[in-house]
Amino acid sequence: MKVVIIGGVAGGPSLATRLRRITEKAEIVLLERGDHISYASCALPYYLGGVITDRDSLIERTPAILKQKNNIDVRVNNEVTAIDPVRQVLTVTELKTGEQYEEGYDKLVLATGARPVLPPITGINEVDNAFMIRSMTDADHIKSFMDAHQPQNVTVLGAGAAGVELAENFRHAGLAVTLVDQAQQVMQPYDSELTPFIQAELTQHDIRVILGQSVAMVQDQGARWCWLMVSICQPTC
Ligand SMILES: Cc1cc2nc3c(=O)[nH]c(=O)nc-3n(C[C@H](O)[C@H](O)[C@H](O)COP(=O)(O)OP(=O)(O)OC[C@H]3O[C@@H](n4cnc5c(N)ncnc54)[C@H](O)[C@@H]3O)c2cc1C
Repeated sequence: MKVVIIGGVAGGPSLATRLRRITEKAEIVLLERGDHISYASCALPYYLGGVITDRDSLIERTPAILKQKNNIDVRVNNEVTAIDPVRQVLTVTELKTGEQYEEGYDKLVLATGARPVLPPITGINEVDNAFMIRSMTDADHIKSFMDAHQPQNVTVLGAGAAGVELAENFRHAGLAVTLVDQAQQVMQPYDSELTPFIQAELTQHDIRVILGQSVAMVQDQGARWCWLMVSICQPTC
């Protein structure tokens, strides 16, 4: 049996390795459009804040390890653009070369996760110092910017769990941090009785918290400033 898995961050590789433990006979192919697989998204804020210094430690398994240890055929930079469920065939684009090919399957697993929703903020796509964080590649871009320009200020848009973690980590790195959310509280899924304690802790650590206001425009205030979006996500398919 040939199992093809689309998506290579958390769900895809876990399933692939679990499947290999169950059967040695299946042919397992994992297709990921990004540059990396099996990395710790949850640790990205700590990497940006300098708490984690070794970038390689963020990566659990590389394609080479999965091939060698688990006999899983991993292809990064390979994007699935169409599924033909009748023929049981995928159309895949090799993103580095633009080459297209077909890949057949007996069983197909979608582990395609979610993509960030970018709110309609004027100027967001025009400035060089506004970033969205979702993937390791996003974190690499932010880190390069920080290393090159040494920004002193960061505004984090979105005060959910990831936004609060990023604010904490940028403060740890010595930046002046503003955390903005259109909701009336930080950590919106939590009960409103609890979140004032979290907000107080943030304020105590000199993080400026602005609630009940949404950002309408982003302006380039020079490279000493960095805007960071931590957006809600919607399923990829
Ligand atoms: C900054 C940050 C901090 C976080 N912190 C935490 C935390 O502390 N605790 C926690 O539980 N969670 C945390 N999360 C959330 C956690 O990372 C996600 O829930 C988890 O990554 C979801 O895994 P997944 O495999 O379902 O999807 P994803 O991680 O979204 O991976 C899906 C992959 O599928 C690929 N893909 C999609 N479509 C295609 C296609 N057509 N062809 C090929 N490939 C495709 C995408 O490129 C992507 O790499 C955090 C996330 C971020 C961004």
